[in-house]
Amino acid sequence: MSSPALALHHLSKRYGSTVAAEDVSLTVGAGETVALLGPSGCGKSTVLRCVAGLERPDAGRVEIGGRDVTPLPPEARHVGLVFQDYALFPHLSVLGNVTYGPRMRGARRAQAEGRAREALALVGLEALTGRTPAQLSGGQAQRVALARAVATGSPLLLLDEPLSNLDEQLRARLRSDLRALFGQVGAGVLLVTHDQREALALAARVAVMRAGRLVQVGGAAEVFARPATAWVAAFLGHTNVLTAPGGLARLVPEGAVRLGKGNPLPVTAYQPTDTGTEVTVVHPLGTLTLHLSPREAGGIDEGRLRLSVDEGRVLTLPDDREGA
Ligand code: ADP
Repeated sequence: MSSPALALHHLSKRYGSTVAAEDVSLTVGAGETVALLGPSGCGKSTVLRCVAGLERPDAGRVEIGGRDVTPLPPEARHVGLVFQDYALFPHLSVLGNVTYGPRMRGARRAQAEGRAREALALVGLEALTGRTPAQLSGGQAQRVALARAVATGSPLLLLDEPLSNLDEQLRARLRSDLRALFGQVGAGVLLVTHDQREALALAARVAVMRAGRLVQVGGAAEVFARPATAWVAAFLGHTNVLTAPGGLARLVPEGAVRLGKGNPLPVTAYQPTDTGTEVTVVHPLGTLTLHLSPREAGGIDEGRLRLSVDEGRVLTLPDDREGA
């Protein structure tokens, strides 16, 4: 079996008294995309910077392609980096920007340009090779940054919130482009994001990070369907994570709620949204927040809505939402 693209073993990093990363162990298989997902400040970028060699961990080991690179400087690690701000060279053309990586790694000019053109074709920018970064839209600049990382031929790509500076529409489109691109490139990808939709859309596996530690690692769909704790469930966007006695919480997944049957329950709040109405309903389990289509909202009768909860689909989780 080939070595994983990346293996982190018990990585820790502090800044003074701030624990930025603590005992982080994670593997990215060859050709696999893994999302490091967590709220702002949880330590995602710190882990990425340790992988790239921009930061030295206090403890632990970084292996890239089976090789221990922990003591090596960034240029000796052969990783493709895509940061939030793209960091394109303003004075170089698009082609110049993408050719730079292979040239730095010793490729001859013609060979480097060939690789750059291939990478630019992959991201759909072959027509814009002569432009400078100032002449590109945000989405195009983002693609150039990706092409630049891809052109290095690195077996490991590191992406730090690559879509965060783009508007929602463009982000949605690039998300599906990126997934296709990762499949074609065949590199291992470690993607850092605070956006759970991005993680679920792009990554086969997700590592959820909180306050410097990984709290759950697993298949993207599996982590969403079976969050390990109440905090993970809420962070992943589950709406109904209800407090229960004994330090527990009950997760009522959207699919567990059946409208139109069961007892009529009091609706205590209405909030119109762009697609319908958000309501809160008092259920014996707790107060549920539900998104209703206009037709479903029509089922509210004298301030009451009939619904039943499929108890077999309700998950009981440790409630770790206090603190951090
Ligand atoms: P994330 O990428 O998840 O937003 P970071 O890795 O940037 O989180 O930061 C993790 C923690 O480490 C935060 O508390 C942050 O303030 C702190 N931190 C990050 N970089 C430095 C630094 N160079 N000096 C001091 N503290 C830092």
